[in-house]
Amino acid sequence: MQSPAVKTYIGIGSNLADPKQQVIDVLPHLNQISQTRLLEHSSLYQSAAVSEIEQEDYINAVACLETQLTPEQLLLELQAIEYAFYRQRSDELKWAPRTMDLDIILYGNLRQRDSHLSIPHDQLQNRLFVLQPLQEIAGDLYLPGLGSLSYMIQHAPSLRIEKLA
Ligand code: ADP
Ligand code: MG
Repeated sequence: MQSPAVKTYIGIGSNLADPKQQVIDVLPHLNQISQTRLLEHSSLYQSAAVSEIEQEDYINAVACLETQLTPEQLLLELQAIEYAFYRQRSDELKWAPRTMDLDIILYGNLRQRDSHLSIPHDQLQNRLFVLQPLQEIAGDLYLPGLGSLSYMIQHAPSLRIEKLA
């Protein structure tokens, strides 16, 4: 039996090696994940890096997918795409520069808190670079326990962020 399709939102970020192009190039890969299709994506946003080390601005976007994969299966697919974009993971450097970061922001109405997979993403309310593109495509979603996206945007730590043309 086929499992029902669920709407899921993916946060996309890159700040290395022509990040705008990286974000544009990753979209067809999201559409090629098995049992998954890309429904829509936000504009691109440019934001200051949140980091203890000096690094380039990020390019961010949010994509909306419809999937029949479980969240765990989807995370594995996203990690495979990150590696295909030559992401170097660093154990010593938290929030190091990266060519591609793909995070599951929301998965239907699911709420789960696991060390390896937290949904909604556990930093959502702190990340304007996710909240703004998410609101652009999802509208003013209300998330139980977190509030509406506009509430979260008003209360998120300030950040230099600009929507690109
Ligand atoms: P971050 O995205 O926080 O900058 P990483 O991309 O290196 O950092 O992710 C580290 C780990 O976060 C991943 O190995 C994954 O298991 C875990 N993780 C927990 N929740 C999520 C989520 N909702 N989406 C993606 N990864 C998640
Ligand atoms: Mg990540």
